[in-house]
Amino acid sequence: MPPIVAIVGRPNVGKSTLFNRLAKRPKAITHDRPGVTRDRLEATVELGDRIVTLIDTGGMDFDAPEGLERQIVVQAEIALTMADVVLFLVDGKAGRTAMDDEMAERLRRAGKPVIVAVNKVDGSERIPALTGDFHAWGFPILPLSAAHGHGLQDLAETLAKAL
Ligand code: GDP
Ligand code: MG
Repeated sequence: MPPIVAIVGRPNVGKSTLFNRLAKRPKAITHDRPGVTRDRLEATVELGDRIVTLIDTGGMDFDAPEGLERQIVVQAEIALTMADVVLFLVDGKAGRTAMDDEMAERLRRAGKPVIVAVNKVDGSERIPALTGDFHAWGFPILPLSAAHGHGLQDLAETLAKAL
């Protein structure tokens, strides 16, 4: 069994966009509304020279009428029980939110290796401004643009090292 990399993060940060890109799936299945992705949640992908099983935990919210807090709990639980490495995706454009802080705290308690990927850093000149907020957690941080495909090489290398 390949090691499991779980992508966690609140709705709309770009989990499905990243998942589809890494899994080389067409981007048509992501949507502007959070939580609408219901397709495949799991893919075997090549990251650098490693084969891993990638999981989009955002797709596991099912209908989640209980709200966002519940989603965080579910995702953190999945990360805790299944993942070898947790890829914690945040939105650099939106900045750090209370939900992000809550997730960071749960992941810290889970004790698994965590890498924070700051998504929506679409241009490299904005890296310091968009990633600065997230250093406070003390996890390794990488800037990323899932939509444009920037930062994926660094991400693959960092994940491979954490496995
Ligand atoms: P999820 O809810 O975390 O799975 O997020 P999605 O992958 O569905 O993406 C939510 C929205 O963010 C969509 O409108 C995406 O097009 C957009 N998005 C995803 N990645 C990026 C990125 O790197 N840059 C920008 N500007 N937008 C992005
Ligand atoms: Mg999604």
